[in-house]
Amino acid sequence: RDAADHPLVVENLRKTFGGITAVDDASFSVAEGSLTGLIGPNGAGKSTTFNCITGVHEPTSGRVTFHGTDITGMATHEIAQQGLVRTFQIARELPEMTVLENMMLAPKGQVGERLTNALVPGLRDRVVEQEEELLERAWQQLEFFEIDHLAEEYAGNLSGGQRKLLEMARALMTDPEVVLLDEPLAGVNPTLEEKLLDRIHELRERGNTFLLVEHDMDVIMNNCEHVIVMHQGSVLAEGTPEQVTSDERVVEAYLGG
Ligand code: ADP
Ligand code: MG
Repeated sequence: RDAADHPLVVENLRKTFGGITAVDDASFSVAEGSLTGLIGPNGAGKSTTFNCITGVHEPTSGRVTFHGTDITGMATHEIAQQGLVRTFQIARELPEMTVLENMMLAPKGQVGERLTNALVPGLRDRVVEQEEELLERAWQQLEFFEIDHLAEEYAGNLSGGQRKLLEMARALMTDPEVVLLDEPLAGVNPTLEEKLLDRIHELRERGNTFLLVEHDMDVIMNNCEHVIVMHQGSVLAEGTPEQVTSDERVVEAYLGG
């Protein structure tokens, strides 16, 4: 596998919590421009893998590289700066803040960090300029996901599906290249589900790469060209949707528990 066309490479990833091994020697890579599925029974280690890739958890061992740079153990905002972000299985919006305020929170840390390194004349103007840029990007994202009419609504008043749209819109505030989606369709009604999938495909056409955790095999079959199957913390199989669903070990992992 050529690192040049596989921006994200995970090697021998392991994560233990006390006596529990959540991720057990998992290795895989994600092809540039792909919509890759990551599937596996509950508890297979999918979310923990995302956490280890994006700096939410420090892996016990193993290596994560992004465009050849070792990002293992880096902070989430540093990884986001490189162009790699994730969404959470349980959307993480702040209910007491408006949708727009939530959008503006997303990349704050990064802007702040850039500014502390920029103690130069004209700093004040640059702060204002960046705020305006962020605000414009926030509106663009809200329009793209068709939740701009909810900009002034408290995030806590959104429906489950709208929260998922906000979660994705927020993740895109840093203009990432690779996006890890942890069950973005869970609890989303069929209309919004279609909207979200359309948006994912549109973003792909613009050059984004996605790794998608999803339980619904129909969604995986209809949207992903490559699928990675995790089971008990390890990669059990990978291939086209047809290949993995006809793989006896995969059928066994799902049906045999
Ligand atoms: P999946 O997303 O595939 O359903 P997870 O990665 O959430 O699986 O969980 C994998 C295993 O790791 C499960 O046994 C889960 O209980 C355990 N686990 C996940 N996060 C933690 C944590 N923060 N502390 C302890 N155990 C955890
Ligand atoms: Mg999970």
